[in-house]
Amino acid sequence: MSWSWSIQPISSLVTRSALAKPATRPYPVERRTPYARTRGHIEFRIDDCNFCTICAHKCPTLAIQVNKQDKTWAIDHSRCILCGICVEDCREGCITLSPLPCPPMRAKEVLSFRQEHAPPPPRETVAVEPPSRTSEPRRSDNSVSSP
Ligand code: SF4
Ligand code: SF4
Repeated sequence: MSWSWSIQPISSLVTRSALAKPATRPYPVERRTPYARTRGHIEFRIDDCNFCTICAHKCPTLAIQVNKQDKTWAIDHSRCILCGICVEDCREGCITLSPLPCPPMRAKEVLSFRQEHAPPPPRETVAVEPPSRTSEPRRSDNSVSSP
């Protein structure tokens, strides 16, 4: 029995491994696509915010601070548990849940936003005029027809 019989499977295994694609992803060059409905982090757009403070009052961990006078909105990502309540309750659609993870923080920090311009005007409402009384058909009490 020659030893070449025992070394052949090993050499073919080494050749296959050398030519095969890597089993792992070269992170961070290539990142995995997040799964649908992944809870990554909260994103905020201040343009349409009217500082109603609903999000701050509904947040169970007090992660959001809103100051109506200063027109500032702030979030402490280290407190946020990504429950999504603020996203659902903001009527202006300013808060969204991004599937990407929150950028790493070296220290506890509060991300603050300030609105520099005047808030947008309220949405237009179409005025519906009440029906004119003059256009209604007149009804007279004396209009009882005789038999
Ligand atoms: S983000 Fe939405 S809920 Fe929060 S203060 Fe602004 S408008 Fe109100
Ligand atoms: S997702 Fe939940 S915990 Fe995070 S800021 Fe919004 S309400 Fe607060």
